[in-house]
Amino acid sequence: MNPTLNCSKCGGAMEEGFLLEFTHGSLIQSRWLEGKPERAHWTGLKTRGRQELTVMTYRCETCGFLESYAGDKGEAPA
Ligand SMILES: [Zn+2]
Repeated sequence: MNPTLNCSKCGGAMEEGFLLEFTHGSLIQSRWLEGKPERAHWTGLKTRGRQELTVMTYRCETCGFLESYAGDKGEAPA
């Protein structure tokens, strides 16, 4: 993964960041999960047994285009 990216739309510099998820009383980093979302009774969505990766999202400083990369497991804040 190359951190010095250029925007695929305009060629501008991409700034590193991530998307926030709002959960019950806390903020977490967005995750990528394999497969289609399935409803679960207690948690809202089934996540058990799915491959789960943290997501870094890069933002173009010129046009605002967002580009996301699913990274390694274990990077997520507790
Ligand atoms: Zn751009």
